[in-house]
Amino acid sequence: MAAAMAAAPLKHRRTTLERVEKFVSPLYFTDCNLRGRLFGDSCPVAALSSFLTPERLPYQEAIQQDFRPAQVGDSFGPTWWTCWFRVELSIPEAWLGQEVHLLWESDGEGLVWRDGEPVQGLTKEGEKTSYVLTDKLREEDSRSLTLYVEVACNGLLGAGKGSMIAAPDPEKMFQVNRAELAVFRRDVHKLLVDLELLLGIAKGLGEDNQRSFQALYTANQIINICDPAQPETFPAAHALASRFFDQRGGESQHTLHAVGHCHIDTAWLWPFKETVRKCARSWVTAVNLMERNPEFIFACSQAQQLEWVRNHYPGLYTRIQEFFQRGQFVPVGGTWVEMDGNLPSGEAMVRQFLQGQNFFLQEFGEMCSEFWLPDTFGYSAQLPQIMRNCGIKYFLTQKLSWNLVNSFPHHTFFWEGLDGSRVLAHFPPGDSYGMQGSVEEVLKTVTKNQDKGRTNHSAFLFGFGDGGGGPTQTMLDRLKRLSNTDGLPRVQLSSPKQLFLKLEGSSEQLCTWVGELFLELHNGTYTTHAQIKKGNRDCERILHDVELVSSLALARSTQFLYPAAQLQELWRLLLLNQFHDVVTGSCIQLVVEEAMAHYKDIRSQGGALLSAAATALCAGEPGPGGLLIVNTLPWKRTEVLALPRPGGSHSIGTLGESPGDSAQHGLCTCSRAHLPAASAAPAACVCGARGSFSSTSRPALTKTDGSVTLDNGIIRVKLNPTGCLTSLVLVASGREAIAEGAVGNQFVLFDDVPLYWDAWDVMDYHLETRKPVPGQAGTLAVGAEGGLRGSAWFLLQLSPNSRLSQEVVLDVGCPYVRFHTEVHWHESHKFLKVEFPAHVRSSQATYEVQFGHLQRPTHKNTSWDWARYEVWAHRWMDLSEHGFGLALLNDCKYGASVHGSVLSLSLLRAPKAPDATADMGRHEFTYALMPHKGSFQDAGVIQAAYNLNFPLLALPAPGRAPATAWSAFSVSTSAVVLETVKQAESCPQGRTLVLRLYEAHGSHVDCWLRTSLLVQEAVLCDLLERRDSAGYLPLQENGLKLTFSPFQVRSLLLVLQPSLS
Ligand SMILES: [Zn+2]
Repeated sequence: MAAAMAAAPLKHRRTTLERVEKFVSPLYFTDCNLRGRLFGDSCPVAALSSFLTPERLPYQEAIQQDFRPAQVGDSFGPTWWTCWFRVELSIPEAWLGQEVHLLWESDGEGLVWRDGEPVQGLTKEGEKTSYVLTDKLREEDSRSLTLYVEVACNGLLGAGKGSMIAAPDPEKMFQVNRAELAVFRRDVHKLLVDLELLLGIAKGLGEDNQRSFQALYTANQIINICDPAQPETFPAAHALASRFFDQRGGESQHTLHAVGHCHIDTAWLWPFKETVRKCARSWVTAVNLMERNPEFIFACSQAQQLEWVRNHYPGLYTRIQEFFQRGQFVPVGGTWVEMDGNLPSGEAMVRQFLQGQNFFLQEFGEMCSEFWLPDTFGYSAQLPQIMRNCGIKYFLTQKLSWNLVNSFPHHTFFWEGLDGSRVLAHFPPGDSYGMQGSVEEVLKTVTKNQDKGRTNHSAFLFGFGDGGGGPTQTMLDRLKRLSNTDGLPRVQLSSPKQLFLKLEGSSEQLCTWVGELFLELHNGTYTTHAQIKKGNRDCERILHDVELVSSLALARSTQFLYPAAQLQELWRLLLLNQFHDVVTGSCIQLVVEEAMAHYKDIRSQGGALLSAAATALCAGEPGPGGLLIVNTLPWKRTEVLALPRPGGSHSIGTLGESPGDSAQHGLCTCSRAHLPAASAAPAACVCGARGSFSSTSRPALTKTDGSVTLDNGIIRVKLNPTGCLTSLVLVASGREAIAEGAVGNQFVLFDDVPLYWDAWDVMDYHLETRKPVPGQAGTLAVGAEGGLRGSAWFLLQLSPNSRLSQEVVLDVGCPYVRFHTEVHWHESHKFLKVEFPAHVRSSQATYEVQFGHLQRPTHKNTSWDWARYEVWAHRWMDLSEHGFGLALLNDCKYGASVHGSVLSLSLLRAPKAPDATADMGRHEFTYALMPHKGSFQDAGVIQAAYNLNFPLLALPAPGRAPATAWSAFSVSTSAVVLETVKQAESCPQGRTLVLRLYEAHGSHVDCWLRTSLLVQEAVLCDLLERRDSAGYLPLQENGLKLTFSPFQVRSLLLVLQPSLS
């Protein structure tokens, strides 16, 4: 055929390239080019009417409403409302034999309903503006039908005012710009795909490559023989293209595993409730593609989203399950949501998998084998162990490609965690989870792959993401055409499991990365939205306490029913809030309000569950005080405790206007009658509130020249008249902890103007804008006068608009001084931190992470060091030299840093996008300072940080509190922490508990777990509570013996003896 052409092509690369571009252009020459022929005849819809509502109504309810006539071009809104359209269609008879589409273009996100079921998502930004009514109109087909289109008044990425991440414009209006029927020319579409790919190959392979010229001249020839106005010329053109694409590559070709995906942020620039609909829109579209393309495989993460679709769109869910059976719809990830990888506690991370994997097992009959977290802002060094213990050995992300400073050196590697657990990790080398199947992306995936030669397989995730959308037919057409063409990698439509099996099969030469995967960007997310962070820490504590106290009640009371269902519900709310744009504070105000409501539910219902458990633990007539004191930590504690006064108020210091209102302190020592012979570390215990206090040293308090000294015999704290810490001495050794000539508790403000990602980023240059907040002399006042508790307080004007008050508290017997802080914060793009220059020198500082800790440098030697200028930590950080150190504890903060000898805790930010109101208003938080001798491990820093975060509970007891203090569990070494006690998931009615312990010092250690509960059987299990058949633990007189390696997490099932009643 080509031989019939008149003349050989001229040798002009540039004009030939542009000729091809113009032939497929949607902008130029559409009157005569191929693109202009994509659609044939068209006609308007027969009738269009609409109904507008602020609610997100179910279909059945929506279609009952009063629909009014509407026109193409009408506006509707405002933001977050929904406009339902009734679309009546009448397909012309002349279109028999043709493929007919409903063309629908709107700037709102649409979902087509047909016969009561969702059938297609329509989103302009996701390149879905066409609903296929029929592939081929047949005689017997009904040509009249009525559809509904549910249009949300938001775009794929919300409704930002002016820019994507700006706060939403509440008054935004939307439009339907097109609603018509049209004949779709499938043959034109195929040729367009071919030409675009040929153009991509010609450009992408470049002038050094002969295949590039073959592609270019093939495209040129196609244009020579293809007349857009004469479809009979198309087959010859198509055959020319096939001849090119069918020239195969060699055996050594790299293989791309193309997996369809649709990253849907569970809440971000839109509320949670909108995500429910985003899932339906995206997945129904994916399911349709599966129907048309049996080889198309789609990976879908986040159990929560599947649960939403199950509950709201049961018909769609049934189809999803069918396509799961066919191997096309593949659940991945194993977690409840794609959570943040830094901030959730170790236990919360375990619950992400426990809730996720159990959901996948229940709904699909199998668990996930890969952890899927493409879009999260860093990855804890404990994740490999948690994954391995949750049945997962593969890990996929791509976010480290966002590193601002250092390029991560691997795409396929083994990731080794804190305890030595290893998983096979893969970062799609194209650095995206939203590929579109272009040649450019395909080539990039190979050229950028840093493990070429070590492994010959890569992931290629395609489909619009973030706001949903997902893959399109065009993407699939491109990828199928590129399945095996010389000059390009092979492209295989594949599943994550197929990819990982291939990677595993050729893993001998892979490198290993040890420790955290730190993202050198988005480091402001450790601090933004302090109330969310506080809610997270609080609710993690509440659920811990509820589970422990309920477990004790279950063990002691025959009447008590463990609140398994309520706890699952509350955990799922907490896990939902740990989504990577919620707990990070990088969401809009609407989401913050929803998240705070979730925390409110957990707090109130958690409180009720604690009371119920306390009731079960108390029996008999009312006792003195009517209070039950519970220590929910596994070691003995002697602490000053604020007890409620009769009449409802509490005795200790509301902060702010009347700080240090010290009155009725109670002291509960839980040392009596735990386990008879336990000389060390009694445990999770319960006792009545009548302990009396006998102490040898009390906080003394002197005041000279406006300064205040607090001294409890363990530490001596000196505050200058402005509230700064001039001295902190460990009394026994006389050792000073504050750097010479410096002051601690120094508040500092920084300018905090990032380059773009406002709520996310704090840039390195903010450190150059440090401004210490000058103190006001004379504001320091004595609060509590001493006795059990000494305190001083002061006020500080941070700026003309923001002020701070603080009570500095030292309790008898306590090894740390606490700083109760209240801030009224009204700033724009400022960052507040507090600094403690330490009289300690070390090149490494230690930070608590999930189930352990790790070191990070205090210097800036290399680019990897200085890129960690702002890092995250959980409850404590420590700077130690041999024999001495200073620890900084906190009760709800996550951002931190140690530069040189200065420990710095990040307190508050003031970003304006995507939430213009972020962090404005009142905040309350506590941090504490603990100087110590020896190592932080031996000095008990870890336990102190737990104590600060888990105050003794004083629960109203309806009856007499147990007459004698009673301890349920204790552990023989301080290296091992009993983190969790809960009822086993597998037996919601039963008397089996799950205990989770971890090694916290970083040591190999044996330990005895002792319990006063009557145990019938003890067996090790994994984090999903599955029995380890070789893990039976003999019950010995001393309890149960457990062996730990550094930072190892162990779980066991304790089957309790049947109750005697
Ligand atoms: Zn995301």
